Amino acid sequence: MHRTKKWIEVPENTRYFVNADAFYIRCFNKSNIKVFESIFVVEDTPSFDSYGRKRKALKREKPQRLSIDILGFDSTSRTMFYRHLPRTLETMNRLGYETLYGYNKVGDNSMVNLGPILIGDVPEALTEPMLDESGDINSNWILPANKKMDPTALRFLWKLMKEKYGCRSMLNEDISRKELGLFHYPLNEFLPGFTEPPADHFYRAYYLAVYKNWSYGSCRDGRQIQRQFVDLWRRFAVRYKDICHFGFTFVTTLSHEVGFLLELLDEHISSSLENLLTVGALDNTVSVVMGDHGNRIGLAQYSYTGRIEERMPLMAIRFPPWFRSKYREEYNNFRENRWKLTRYRFIVVVLYNFDVHQTLKDIALMRLGTNRSLITSGGRGISLFDKIPDSRLAKTIYFIFYLASLEAVRNWIIATNLSTCIDEKSVIIKGKLTTLGLNPLARHGLRSKSNVTVVRDARRKEAKLDVSNTV
Ligand SMILES: [Zn+2]
Repeated sequence: MHRTKKWIEVPENTRYFVNADAFYIRCFNKSNIKVFESIFVVEDTPSFDSYGRKRKALKREKPQRLSIDILGFDSTSRTMFYRHLPRTLETMNRLGYETLYGYNKVGDNSMVNLGPILIGDVPEALTEPMLDESGDINSNWILPANKKMDPTALRFLWKLMKEKYGCRSMLNEDISRKELGLFHYPLNEFLPGFTEPPADHFYRAYYLAVYKNWSYGSCRDGRQIQRQFVDLWRRFAVRYKDICHFGFTFVTTLSHEVGFLLELLDEHISSSLENLLTVGALDNTVSVVMGDHGNRIGLAQYSYTGRIEERMPLMAIRFPPWFRSKYREEYNNFRENRWKLTRYRFIVVVLYNFDVHQTLKDIALMRLGTNRSLITSGGRGISLFDKIPDSRLAKTIYFIFYLASLEAVRNWIIATNLSTCIDEKSVIIKGKLTTLGLNPLARHGLRSKSNVTVVRDARRKEAKLDVSNTV
């Protein structure tokens, strides 16, 4: 459904087949006054045909290519997800999802972090200098905010799969207001909107209908509306389980301001994952559950750990069991890389978004096993199926904040109960003790460097454990 089509008067007491992804129902009484209106998404019943007749079970043929299904949540860090979705986490662990523990974001908000994953390098970024005047990474080098890019021209991975191999595609993005759309209508980065549907299943018209006359909250019409958004992800994965596909679902409105509301979806996501496994929708699919960044604007930002969480979104990936044995070398490299931080050239800048892109591109193009020799383009990331060279590895950093003396270190070990596994008396300090911490601009919540006075003041501030005067 790309736009709202014409209204149809449905005959009473008759089964009616709706050939669309989503549809409105309006009911009128005998006086022709509207008494009900709501938007619905199509729910498939795979065991029955469109007219309710039992289908014969078809023999499934294993597809030649792997598929990719991504379920993303806005502002969701790994640790926040762990805290608030315990049942989902338990299910994911049982199903074999694997988490990237060193995964960091590369920019502030959603677009700049999702673009590098779904698109990779955009040509407009490559002409930008890597560093700005003060020697920090230039954010335009990742995603230019100073050039109006055409969203229709973006080379999404699903477009690649569709054009080369005829795979099916979905962009299911929860857009509550047009200026919050990832690739649709941001004021600076993009031209206003797609001029053609970017995927086979594109839910812009559905979300326009959902958010018509409604400012988002956790419930709508007494229902947990975001369940429906998640259902679209599950439906696409199930519908095309035997056909190669790439689906991207991004749910924004439940988690953008605060993390804990995601709890409302815990049972639903958990049971949806179970369902995917049961019906075989994970058999030939690389399934990803992720966040774009952590919480940037809720109360969590006021604590030091909240700022670290903000920089470390969830990234959990599941490969089908046969993949793990067939592509043993790639899988073992991936397993090892889960723990690593990477850097680019001489600057410790974590490029995992680009690394995830290269990994997904390997899957999209099936550059696996003997086909790994097909890899030609470099790009800024390194596939997590490869060994990451030492030159790209950030040094192991032990974060011990604000502890300037041996005594303080020992007291800290006792206070945090680490003394159960470390004898605090055995700790010695060799050479100079360096305190490492967050970049002060990140620590004090700067979204951009446009205001030089604010930047200067933030650099002068101490990286206190807790502050109330964020800028
Ligand atoms: Zn976001």
